[in-house]
This record gives sequence, C-alpha cells and structure tokens, in this order.
Amino acid sequence: MSTNSVKAGVSPLRLVIHGGAGAIKRSKLTTERAQAYQQALAQSLTAGYAVLASGGSSIDAVIAAIVVMEDSPLFNAGKGSVFSHAGRNELESSIMDGTTLMAGAVAAVTTIRNPIRAAYTVMTKSAHVMLMGQGAEAFAAEQGLEIVDPSYFYTQKRWDQLQQAISEERVLRDHDAGPGTPVAGEDGKHGTVGAVALDRYGNLAAGTSTGGLTNKRFGRVGDSPIIGAGTYADNRSVAVSATGTGEMFIRAAAAFNTAAQVRLLHKPIAEAADNTLAEIAAIGGDGGLIVLDAKGDYAMRFNTSGMYRGVIGNDGIARVGIFLEAETPVTCSPASAL
Ligand code: ASP
Repeated sequence: MSTNSVKAGVSPLRLVIHGGAGAIKRSKLTTERAQAYQQALAQSLTAGYAVLASGGSSIDAVIAAIVVMEDSPLFNAGKGSVFSHAGRNELESSIMDGTTLMAGAVAAVTTIRNPIRAAYTVMTKSAHVMLMGQGAEAFAAEQGLEIVDPSYFYTQKRWDQLQQAISEERVLRDHDAGPGTPVAGEDGKHGTVGAVALDRYGNLAAGTSTGGLTNKRFGRVGDSPIIGAGTYADNRSVAVSATGTGEMFIRAAAAFNTAAQVRLLHKPIAEAADNTLAEIAAIGGDGGLIVLDAKGDYAMRFNTSGMYRGVIGNDGIARVGIFLEAETPVTCSPASAL
C-alpha cells in the first residue's frame, strides 16, 4: 500500500512555510505592515509546530500552518484571495503525503472556507486526486467541511485591485503587479501560501493554497493545485511548495522537477531549487520554492526581490524573512490581529 515505509526512530522536526514570492518593494512595505506579516507567519509556524511537537503527522502540520494563512486577509489564499475577472474568488489548493504519494487538490472553488482541508479530504475520502468547481464544493459540503457564502472572501483591497487590473487590461499575479506599477496602493506583493513539514516519524508532506491571479478569466487554473507543479512530496527525496508565475511553474513541472533532481541526480536541495528557478526564468517566469528533505535540511529559494517565508525546528523558535536577509526570530504574540 505505502510506497515508502515509515521509518523507525525519531526524526528532527521541521516546518517551512511561504506566503508568496514577488516584486516586494521595501519602500512600499511599512514597518507596521511588515510586522503584521511577520506575526502572521510566526502564528502559522507556531500552529504547525504544535502539531509536530505533540507527535502529530507532517500532513496535519501542513494543514494547521496553511489554515492560519488562509484565515488571514494578508495572504492571497482563503480569506484574502484575489478576485477573478468575473468578480469572484476562485480558490485552489493541493496537498501531498510523502509516505504514500497520495495527493488531493481542489480548483475553482468559491464557497470552501479552507481549501487546504478540502484538498486533504479529496486525498483521504475520495478515489480521486483533483476535484473542481461545484462538484468539489458539493463533495466538501457532504464531507462536513465549513462552507461559506462567497461574500466571506470579499475584501475591499482585493476588489480595488481587480478594478485597477480591469481598467489596465492586465492579469496580475498578486505579488507582481508589473514593471514597477503597484496596484491600488499595494505595499508590496504577496500571495500564495505553502508549507512543507517533516514529522518525528521521518515523513514529509507538502501543501499549497491560493486565490490565483487578479483578473484571471475563463476558469484559469495555476500551478498551486497541480501535483508536480505547485506541490510535491516524496520521502525518498523532498517536500516542495511553489509560488510564482503559475503557467511557467506548470511548464517546468517545478515541484516534481526539484524532487527528481534530488532523488535521481542527488543534487543538494538548494541547487535543485535554483536549477528549477533558472529553468523557469529561461521561459519568462519567476517566483520561489520551499524545499525540505527527510533529514530536516531545507531551502527557501526565490529569484524575486522577496518571499514571505519562515522556518521552525526542534528549538521551537519561529524564524521569518521577507527580503534576502537571513530569517530572524519572531516571538509570536497570540493577541495580534491577523
Ligand atoms: N502560483 C500562483 C498562480 O499562478 C500565484 C502565486 O504564487 O502567487 O496561481
């Protein structure tokens, strides 16, 4: 049944997350807003780490970490998702278990509060890997997931971004509004969220969640819900979650590409990620990848000016970063509003 058996013994614990990569401008990111992101990232790390520290699985840690970011309006996932051209929030998510290579995903869903939970439910409760649209919503409802009115996902900021994108006839990646043209007062771009985790049993898992692109049309689906593009996990190599220009990440099979370099070519994980990002750059894309192996070694690589990101391990200290500088410890204040 399982392709990679659970290892005996106790592995180091590790959780790595991202909250989107892109053309984040220092000048546009106020101290207050940067702190809000740092807190949100630290809360996500703390929630996921609590699962790992209490003996939970990497897949449950990935879900816990992503749910925090989906529930925050700061990120382009769940509550903070961007609008499509039709004025809808069309969400996408995927998850993968590195032990069994089982995976689940949803695309174009408009009423599921936490798409990462829906992806997990597709993985565990259906015979399929990906469900989309109304079918996915009906399945999620049947499985008892929280269903919300589409208006739950409305935020003024995202609506304003859509109006600007429509007026400029542009399709915008949330974190990359185009050459130096911030959208509707954007302080810096932020987007898709993802997590990769290693539990004490040595098992890897990965997950990704997004609202996709502002002003996307015709049922556009990006890389985030596609196994092998936005998400991949295999205990024999690495767990990966991606953020960036989805079309190029699909064409480069970004997450699987990175994992395959590690498993088959024995590349160091950072080099594998950089190779994938270079392939993506060569076809006109950019973004970032978080990568974690079964020893607990990790890489957070991006070829954009920044990537919201963080890591936590056995010391239980959340370390977060936005720009190129090394990640710094952040104390998580439970009282802070996300
Ligand atoms: N990869 C996402 C997409 O293309 C966008 C992002 O990472 O922000 O839908």
